[in-house]
Amino acid sequence: MTTAHVLGFPRIGAQRELKFALEGFWQGAIDETELAAVGSQLRRRHWAWQKDAGLDWVAVGDFAWYDQVLNTAALLGALPARFGFDPSTLSLKQYFELARGNAAQPALEMTKWFDTNYHYLVPELDADTRFDGGVDWLFYEIEEARSQGHAVKPVLLGPLSFLYLAKAKLAGLDKLALLPDLIAAYQRILNKLAVQGVQWVQIDEPILALELPGDWLAAFERAYRALDQHGVKLLLATYFDSVADHAALLHRLPLAGVHVDLVRAPEQLDALLVDWPTGRVLSAGVIDGRNIWAADLSARLETLAPLAAHLGDRLWVGSSCSLLHTPVDLEQEDGLDAELKGWLAFARQKLGEVAMLKRALEQGRDAVAGELARSDAAAASRRTSRRIHDPAVGERVAALTPADACRAQPYAQRAEQQRAWLKLPLLPTTTIGSFPQTREIRAARAAFKRGELPQAQYMAAMQAEIRLVVEKQEALGLDVPVHGEAERNDMVEYFGEQLSGFAFTRFGWVQSYGSRCVKPPIIFGDVSRPTPMTVEWSRYAQSLTTRPMKGMLTGPVTILQWSFVRDDQPRERTCLQIALAIRDEVVDLETAGIRVIQIDEPAFREGLPLKRGDWDRYLEWAGRAFRVSASGVADATQIHTHMCYSEFNDILPAIAAMDADVITIETSRSDMELLEAFGSFRYPNEIGPGVYDIHSPRVPPVGEMLRLIAKALDVVPAERLWINPDCGLKTRGWPETEAALRNMLDATREARAAL
Ligand code: GLN
Ligand code: ZN
Repeated sequence: MTTAHVLGFPRIGAQRELKFALEGFWQGAIDETELAAVGSQLRRRHWAWQKDAGLDWVAVGDFAWYDQVLNTAALLGALPARFGFDPSTLSLKQYFELARGNAAQPALEMTKWFDTNYHYLVPELDADTRFDGGVDWLFYEIEEARSQGHAVKPVLLGPLSFLYLAKAKLAGLDKLALLPDLIAAYQRILNKLAVQGVQWVQIDEPILALELPGDWLAAFERAYRALDQHGVKLLLATYFDSVADHAALLHRLPLAGVHVDLVRAPEQLDALLVDWPTGRVLSAGVIDGRNIWAADLSARLETLAPLAAHLGDRLWVGSSCSLLHTPVDLEQEDGLDAELKGWLAFARQKLGEVAMLKRALEQGRDAVAGELARSDAAAASRRTSRRIHDPAVGERVAALTPADACRAQPYAQRAEQQRAWLKLPLLPTTTIGSFPQTREIRAARAAFKRGELPQAQYMAAMQAEIRLVVEKQEALGLDVPVHGEAERNDMVEYFGEQLSGFAFTRFGWVQSYGSRCVKPPIIFGDVSRPTPMTVEWSRYAQSLTTRPMKGMLTGPVTILQWSFVRDDQPRERTCLQIALAIRDEVVDLETAGIRVIQIDEPAFREGLPLKRGDWDRYLEWAGRAFRVSASGVADATQIHTHMCYSEFNDILPAIAAMDADVITIETSRSDMELLEAFGSFRYPNEIGPGVYDIHSPRVPPVGEMLRLIAKALDVVPAERLWINPDCGLKTRGWPETEAALRNMLDATREARAAL
């Protein structure tokens, strides 16, 4: 028999029940008992789905009130001392204070979970960190699942990944020095699980997909030898990339099984199968836990059949990674047509796919003939559908020349032409695009979307808003105004809704962090731009002022990165298609008289592959896509880009190679430190390092911004320095926005006077 399982299931709920319960609890609208009831209900439902689908195990331990890494810290008792909490009596309220901060302490830091859009809370370690006396939620949930009649496979984050992802709070602390204590804690946990009668434990070590330093690899041997023989079988789970480089190490470890991601890295299989230890289980992750496509089940069976012949009972079939990264249930989508729906599978549907593969392996293809036929038909229609394949788009991409991906002349010559007509003062001032999105703006947009507000009235409301924003910017004296983005709900959705090849779901929510969810668009087909998307708004805004209005677009890499991307062609090709669509918009803006155009790429860095060895290739195609989007215009037209984060050092050459005339970046929170890297690298084009943090309503005084401008002038010559906030202002209110910008302009005037 073949064992079927998934590495984890989304906990947020098909209707985001957990989100609403959490927020209700935080606001005091429901009490802890009511919150707990929602949690048990969701677990019960998700376990039942796994069992009813035909899986052999249900995953337990994937549920978390906020985050699975914080849960691991709580289970281990490894809480930051600064909160003063006793880990053995940690209450739910205290758990949320760790996640969200309290009056005395800021929350744990949050950061991206590998290359996903999920954010975990970073455990804090210092020399006094103890790993004992944690919460017993996991053991409770195991009993809970048992009492509902399930065969239980607990899921744990492994000791080395936990340690690697944690942050040493004490300078110079060697995290690996904590390993002995940490191993002892895991031994205690495994012993307890054994006493509970658990047979298999899935222990996740996703860091094996990274390029690990030698001492960390060596630590795997120490750790897993020490975790052997504790009465449970360990399935070590890897995902998100190949672990072929660590095949020899994995083979040496005393493990009962290893899980590999054959969706992201199918090619690793051959290397891993060489000298596969006798008796060891291979869990083949063949159902994509990162995307929403229905699997081509015949193709999956072709991968699995030889494995089954070779491994027999020792073959497990599963999702590539936890299904946490997919929406919950496709059944709810009543707005998608049958053809498109037939191409998709959300988490619940993926359970069925895993189970179907198991049945096919055990009973033969005939036993699942109906399902296979449906899957074959969907795969065939994806290969040929006219909705997906637009020959004109393919031809355009194929016809791209190197010249299409660069401006006619180098920056220095372009800058001269731009200066000649822009006639901006030194240290020109601008903003990043959005202005406060008031309740009235949101209400108007929502009413228009529901069809309750007629088009003409909606246009008038948005135009009134644009007029207001332009007037305010004129009064403040901003040199390069923007229209304010009132018409945009979201910087990717706004464009996706107007591009061909995109679809939108009603309930396709995926947890981003805590109670926060995102609903990424689905790029299902060739992308093109039927009609201009932003031109009328920008043209109207320009008609209100003699200053150069800055057009505002989202870049191809960011649109790609924040969507579910088709899996039937390389990401880079999809990105180029989007780039061409944006290029059309850039050219149309220029024709309409908008000759300063910003193409936002806040997600550029996010696209970096997990292994450094793969970075160059990504930076090459992502940079090219950006340049394709930006290079259809005359040299006198000024292209801006914007990225709102502060880690650039390692990719500066690639950022420079994007060749935007102006880049605006976030720097105020790092006290301009980031800029030193730009300075010593001698970033060749113009830069606008943010001089104030837009994430809080705080209005920084003139002197503070003046000091930051002076710091920036130390590394960037005045001719190439712009003055702007760190990021868009849409989440701010008007009073603090106006006050902060007024101070920013005062600081700029003082800085100019001192030049
Ligand atoms: N133009 C966008 C805005 O101002 C940029 C947002 C972003 O960088 N995330 O809102
Ligand atoms: Zn930003």
